[in-house]
Parts: sequence; C-alpha cells; structure tokens
Amino acid sequence: MDKITVTKSSMPPYDEFIEKIKPLWDSKWLTNMGVYHDELEHKLKEYLEVPYLSLMVNGHMALEMTLQAMDFPEGSEVITTPFTFISTTHAIVRNRLKPVFCDINPENFTIDEDKIRDLITERTVAILPVHVYGNICNVEKIQKIADEYRLKVIYDACHAFGEIYKGQHVGNMGDASVFSFHATKVYNTIEGGAVAFHEKSLYEQLYNLKNFGIRGEELVVQVGANAKMNEFAAVMGLCNLPFVEKNIALRKERAEAYQTLLFNTDGIQLPAFNVPDLKYNYGYFPVLFKPEILGNEMRNTVYNTLKEHNIFSRKYFYPLTSDSACFKNKYRNLPLKSARYAADNILVLPLYPELSIEKISEICDIIKRTVVK
Ligand SMILES: *Cc1c(COP(=O)(O)O)cnc(C)c1O
Repeated sequence: MDKITVTKSSMPPYDEFIEKIKPLWDSKWLTNMGVYHDELEHKLKEYLEVPYLSLMVNGHMALEMTLQAMDFPEGSEVITTPFTFISTTHAIVRNRLKPVFCDINPENFTIDEDKIRDLITERTVAILPVHVYGNICNVEKIQKIADEYRLKVIYDACHAFGEIYKGQHVGNMGDASVFSFHATKVYNTIEGGAVAFHEKSLYEQLYNLKNFGIRGEELVVQVGANAKMNEFAAVMGLCNLPFVEKNIALRKERAEAYQTLLFNTDGIQLPAFNVPDLKYNYGYFPVLFKPEILGNEMRNTVYNTLKEHNIFSRKYFYPLTSDSACFKNKYRNLPLKSARYAADNILVLPLYPELSIEKISEICDIIKRTVVK
C-alpha cells in the first residue's frame, strides 16, 4: 500500500531542470545574487504583481529579515495569531520582540480583527497576521486599526502564494507580505521564500540584511544574516513557475472532490472555498470535526484510523504556538477559545496535484465510516 502524505512536492520536468543548471558548470557562480536569482526575483515580482520583491533562502528568514528591517525597539510588542506554524512566532521572538497572542475567527481561522484593539498598548509596534490555509485575513479592518495606531502590518502569506483578493494580488496588502517556497508549499524552490512590499527603501535594507549587512567590500553597515537564495533553488523556482496555474487547477479539482464526497456528513465542517472575490490556491484541505457532535476525540481518532491505512493527515496547527514548550505561559494573550478549538479539532487532509480521485474517495470512505460509527 502506497504511503499517502499530506502533500507531495511539485517538480518540473527533469530535462528542463538539467538543461537550465548546465551553464552553472561553466560560470561556477552558484550563489550570491546570481543571474538565476535575479531572473526569478523579477519573474515572481511580475507573477505576484507587487511593486517590490526580495528573494530569500526560506520563508522563515524572510519573516526574520522583514521584522529586523523595520527596526523596532527591543521588547516591543507584535500582535499575532497562535494558530500558525511555529516559524511565525519564532521570527518575532528571535528579533527580541514580544508576541502578543490574539484569538482567531471561528469561520476561517485567521486573526480575529475585532479583538486586536484590546491587545494594543504603548509598546505595540506591529500586527503579524497569517493568511492561514490561504484564507485571507480581514485586511480592510486590520489596515484601519494599523492606521489608527500607526502600526506596521506584516502578513505571513506563506499559505497564500498566487492568491488574488478583490482584484488585488495578496502580496500588496499591509507593509509587507512574506511567502514561503518550501518543498511542501503550493509553489516551491526546494527551500526558498520572498518578501513583497511597496516601499522602495526596504529593498536595499533587505538586500543588505540577507547578505551579512555588507554594503561594500570593506563596509559592513548592519548586523545581517545569510539569507540568500542559491542558483540551484532559483532554477527550481524558474522551472516550477510555469506549472503553478495548472497545479492550482488540479488542486481545485481534488478539493472539490473532497467537498462533494464529505458534503452533508454530520459534525464535519468543510473549508469555505466560495469566498466572494477570492482566487484561492487550494493549498490545504482542513476539516473540522465538531466535538459537540462527534465527541472530543474524533479528530485524533480519524487521524489514527487514516494512519492505519497508511494515509498521513496532519494536525495543522496543534499545539498553538503559544502552548509550545518554549513559549508556554511566557507572553500576554486574551482567552484563545476559538484558536484552541481549531487546534484541537482540525485535521488537514492530503491534497496535491497527483493525488488520485480514487484515493480521495477512499480517504472520504474511511472518514465517513469512522464518524458515523
Ligand atoms: C512554511 C511556513 C513558514 C516558514 O517557511 P519556510 O520556507 O519553511 O521557512 C512560515 N509560516 C507559515 C505559516 C508557514 O506555513
């Protein structure tokens, strides 16, 4: 029996990749803003329709570098969501800033914009929401709060590559949007990431920061890191880019198959893909097993039952980052009722372009047999 994982990396045709890396054996220029780095940076800027874009070695460093570039005073507070991949919170703490955890909306699991105000203090400098599962945050309300209190907004858009909301590409929202091109994401460069933004000066800032803060051969102006994307990763990105739309279409078909097969199963809440004005990327298929109908353990039972069939779903995102061993009880938060409910009861099902509809049907049969018992 084949092992089915929650995702599978998209890879370009082998020959296309090999053909494109060949010149590297002549140039011997493997990293440090090479020609492929620049080409990919340019192509992604066009594809994502953003004014500026800086390529990074991965999504996490893109978050770290963005926060560092904004140069907030040490100990400043950043209002964020605990219902995310641990990277979001790590990026804040590693910049010597304090995460302040806000609850989420029960419908789409993004930060609850109506609870942000209660968390603002004179030390608050930024809001770091996450377009979790590709669900777009309430960007209008968040911007209104940010404008009112003069806060920066940095979106973790790692799940939202290629999405368009109300005619606007997702990377145009807030002061900066961070993308991940990790192997497991909708679009990958093996490891990689980028920051999109509209302020020109940020480009130079990030360029310096991702290259050790070096400005000239004998001039280091900032405490930078090494967050440059190498040429092999950039080639992977260039070769994968033309297939993104097709892959998203294939994902859509599969997500719709899940929707149809699981529709009307008592106690199951399916993702809402029919958000008006949103071009979705179908990166994830999160299913909520309502404990008030199915009991407190149903999510875990389904997870284990699928595993017995060699199908590996994931508990994204359990535990909440605020509950992880390194952060537990360390930072301020309001009650995180909806976030905890989501973390305890959501399972992300396998979804990727090559996943067969038969397999999806088998997965849905197992789920239905388990919950209806
Ligand atoms: C993947 C991911 C990251 C980190 O990206 P990497 O490229 O793996 O470093 C950060 N935030 C979220 C929400 C992610 O899903």
